[in-house]
Amino acid sequence: MSALQSASGKSHAANPKTYDVVVVGAGFAGMYMLHRLRRLGLSVRVYEQGGDVGGTWYWNRYPGARCDVESMQYSYSFSDELQQEWDWSERYAPQPEILRYANHVADRFKLRPDIALNTRVDRADFDEHANSWSVTTSDGKTVTATYIVLATGCLSNARMPDIKGLSDFKGKVYHTGHWPHERIDFTGRRVGVIGTGSSAIQSVPVIAEQASHLTVFQRTANFSIPARNAALTEQERQAFRAKYPEIRRFAREESRNGIYTEMPDKGALDDGDNERRAKYEQRWSRGGLTFMSVYNNLALDKAANDTAADFVREKIAEIVRDPETARLLRPNNHPIGTKRICIDTDYFATFNRPNVMLVDIKSNPFEEILPNAVRTGGKDYEIDALVLATGFDAMTGSVAKIDIRGRNGQTLNQKWAEGPKTYLGLMSAGFPNLFIITGPGSPSVLSNMIVSIEQHVDWISDCIAFMRDRGLDTMEAKKDAEDNWVAHVNEVAHTTLYPQANSWYMGANIPGKPQIFMPYIGGVGPYRQICNDVAAKGYEGFAMTGAERPRKMAAS
Ligand code: NAP
Repeated sequence: MSALQSASGKSHAANPKTYDVVVVGAGFAGMYMLHRLRRLGLSVRVYEQGGDVGGTWYWNRYPGARCDVESMQYSYSFSDELQQEWDWSERYAPQPEILRYANHVADRFKLRPDIALNTRVDRADFDEHANSWSVTTSDGKTVTATYIVLATGCLSNARMPDIKGLSDFKGKVYHTGHWPHERIDFTGRRVGVIGTGSSAIQSVPVIAEQASHLTVFQRTANFSIPARNAALTEQERQAFRAKYPEIRRFAREESRNGIYTEMPDKGALDDGDNERRAKYEQRWSRGGLTFMSVYNNLALDKAANDTAADFVREKIAEIVRDPETARLLRPNNHPIGTKRICIDTDYFATFNRPNVMLVDIKSNPFEEILPNAVRTGGKDYEIDALVLATGFDAMTGSVAKIDIRGRNGQTLNQKWAEGPKTYLGLMSAGFPNLFIITGPGSPSVLSNMIVSIEQHVDWISDCIAFMRDRGLDTMEAKKDAEDNWVAHVNEVAHTTLYPQANSWYMGANIPGKPQIFMPYIGGVGPYRQICNDVAAKGYEGFAMTGAERPRKMAAS
């Protein structure tokens, strides 16, 4: 193929604004997608609305932000040089370090020339005659591309809560998912935090150290496990690096969540009380997300789950001195793990500080926000600054912001009005040549995101190469394959306890959003195998067509 020819054989010389692929987003997914596609010799343009690369790590700069997956595993595996040369400083990398890593990757692989920063994709229209996408950006320009890849991230559309009077508040309002770039110093200020999910649980202990007074407004108590963060020694890094081939293989092929850890071989009720308690103690001391993989049925069996939930509730009661605050902090309305479990450093102990107060807004919902206070339960809580740790319109929010029009002018938002519909989380019928990285219907947010990102990017790159090599130029999920997959995703979810929680996995945090369990819970390893099998069978469940040869001939 000549350097001037696209995957579909179209010449690009005449129109420089035609690309083989437009990628939306320059986070970890978009950057690796660009790298892989360029290695295929394709012309690629990446559009990123942020002022730099890094995606979620560009926006989430709140105090205490760090990854809840250990840094030696929350990192790219596609380049052995990269994973051998990068030194992570702590067990869980802080946000600035992850952002430095993202920038290092952009520079090391010379990605920047193909990335347009500060440029939002507003609209994408599929042209059924040309079999290409027309993509309109926030600078008013339009380009065309054979393929479009949405690398828009699962948790990148920060959600502003709809609370009466919020716009009248006279102090500064910050959203954890859209934090300013300059350092915010809360010293001497009275701060209110709304929300008690992962972002709040990470930021509350840090804000409490600075603020003269901190009021945390809690609607739902959350389970959280100590991170036990610590500096990594050179010896620990080297030990990890030496095992990387096995660690990465296990994470990709065998694990359920993309994390290298022991696989549980029994259920929680198979052990006696003492033995079970000892195991929970051991995981609590070790810290981190692997607390939930001590037994193989915590996500499946309520009685088993209760043993882990009770253990954590007891820990909260031991840590928090004021009995009423401890009672409020003990989660009681969802099985442990069915909302994303949080990982903290001193979250519960922070409520022992004299300058920190917990306010229950479940029993006493917000009445209104006044210019200098939050009013709830007939009381005014005076504050100078407000931190909204209120989460995201997850998984579909960033896709929904783009006006995407497929066949017959149908919009993706119309198609997904009752919940996202995809085949394998990768494509949606009626939207040819549009791929989604870690889309709804794939393990995505239930996994170590970088493992899932790399799997999707590799699959999409291989697929585009397959098409190019066979003169195929259009690919689309078949409706029946998609329907079967959506039913399967739903069925598997309902064999677990997950749908019992009002979680963002279910869309339950957004008023009016359809309540459907969005990620695929079948596990990272099994899911990868399904995707590989689909590819091995000539992309079974997808229709592929080419101007030159029909698919059967091409594949033979
Ligand atoms: P979240 O888990 O959705 O939590 C949002 C919090 O705000 C909840 O406590 C929610 O209460 C509350 N809230 C929302 N709207 C409200 C309203 N109108 N009034 C009162 N309270 C309201 O969001 P998040 O903490 O930003 O975390 C989202 C996800 O991002 C996490 O689950 C995780 O996957 C990811 N994350 C990861 C890390 C990490 O890697 N360490 C850090 C941060 C975030 P309800 O529960 O009652 O709705």
